[in-house]
Amino acid sequence: MSETLSIYNTLTRKNEIFTPLYHGMVGMYVCGPTVYNNAHLGNARTFISFDVVFRYLQHLGYKVRYVRNITDAGHLESDADEGEDKISKKAKLEQLEPMEIVQRYTIDFHDVMRAFNTLSPSIEPTATGHIIEQIEMTKQIIANGFAYEVNGSVYFDVTKFAQTHPYTALSNRNLDDLLNNTRELDGQDEKRGRLDFALWIKAKPEHIMRWPSPWGQGFPGWHLECSAMSRKYLGDVFDIHGGGMDLIPTHHTNEVAQNVACTGQHHPVKYWMHTNMLTVNGQKMSKSLGNSFLPLELFTGSHALLDKGYSPMTVRFFMLQAHYRSTLDFSNEALLAAEKGFARLMNAIRLIDSLKTGAATTSNIELLKQNVYAAMNDDFNTPIALAHLFEAVRIINSVNDGKETLSEADKQTLKKLMHEMVFDVLGLREEQAINTDKIDGLMQMILDQRKDAKARKDFASSDLIRDKLKELGFEIKDGKDGTTYSIV
Ligand SMILES: [Zn+2]
Repeated sequence: MSETLSIYNTLTRKNEIFTPLYHGMVGMYVCGPTVYNNAHLGNARTFISFDVVFRYLQHLGYKVRYVRNITDAGHLESDADEGEDKISKKAKLEQLEPMEIVQRYTIDFHDVMRAFNTLSPSIEPTATGHIIEQIEMTKQIIANGFAYEVNGSVYFDVTKFAQTHPYTALSNRNLDDLLNNTRELDGQDEKRGRLDFALWIKAKPEHIMRWPSPWGQGFPGWHLECSAMSRKYLGDVFDIHGGGMDLIPTHHTNEVAQNVACTGQHHPVKYWMHTNMLTVNGQKMSKSLGNSFLPLELFTGSHALLDKGYSPMTVRFFMLQAHYRSTLDFSNEALLAAEKGFARLMNAIRLIDSLKTGAATTSNIELLKQNVYAAMNDDFNTPIALAHLFEAVRIINSVNDGKETLSEADKQTLKKLMHEMVFDVLGLREEQAINTDKIDGLMQMILDQRKDAKARKDFASSDLIRDKLKELGFEIKDGKDGTTYSIV
């Protein structure tokens, strides 16, 4: 580890040097999807961002335990403990068993994650698989005096908690403002305070997903699952907790309150990381505006706002061109530019092996490598890292054109850097990987034919081969050491 990694911590609103709790090991929890619908693109961006974090930490030599949950119960339509359970509602609509909904959309989510080449987390726990842990945690919070039972439901007492703990530490909001902006309680409410939230919810007779508890038949509140599962697999205090920034004010704020109220620890997480939102042509991406598309629609181009489809690796590359804490704007122009940029990057990597080496190197490869690592160490700044990798692309092309030279040692450094950063850390991959060897063999055969034609001074044939290849999307380049090709 040549440099020190720093992470922007939402809790302290500062870039901080990353020091894990246990030497050489990292515990990371990321809030996963609620599986009642097709995986959406905003979620995909969050999980791709944390995939790069997971990959880079491993690349630096850390042993990482990455926990990303599946919410398969307890997530109501509104954050204020109102409305139906999202999964139960969908199950009723489609006349299916809730677990059929869960199964269908978990598979869809995994398909999308695989298409984007994200690594599987170390543990992918489900809310329904941890009902006992959630009940135990609720019991402990009641015993510690921070929750109360009313008519079969249990609520977290925010007012009491806030007297001794900084409830809004993560969101940095003013507690009084927050109170003033929250609906007043009326005679129907079981809650004592406006900001109180449910740990356990009594199941109405028609509610399908229910479990027995000390307070009767019910189901856990959404925020509780993440507290229970992060604690179970990562301990009372762990290194990194991540998710979309929309989770900060309620879900993550309440998660912290639950953990602190249960364990008595000062704060459960050392570094909070949050990803920013997606926009489309400058507008917030949302279902109601009709401008939100699913990953599959993006791959196939089957959405009114899209001119054509873009491959999963083009989309991944496109996402990494923005820092995870910045908004990311989708537009046809930007996606098209990303498609070209990704092809240039892959072409350059393909060329490295065939580069002729000389005695000296005209560019400073060691500095280039340092720049790439410095960018990644600066809060996983992938757009800056990519900018430096494109400096490598320029060098590779110049050396291939005979305009610059590269020593054998620097060529190996460059090759290692490109492979490790592009494939292992950024998680990009050749999309025609299965056929690369065959295409290489085939292209070599065609280029040999063209070479023979040239040797016979049959320039009409050699030009025809070149033009036909160009039509098919293969650009060939004649250099003094032979002919190379790239896929445009
Ligand atoms: Zn969560």
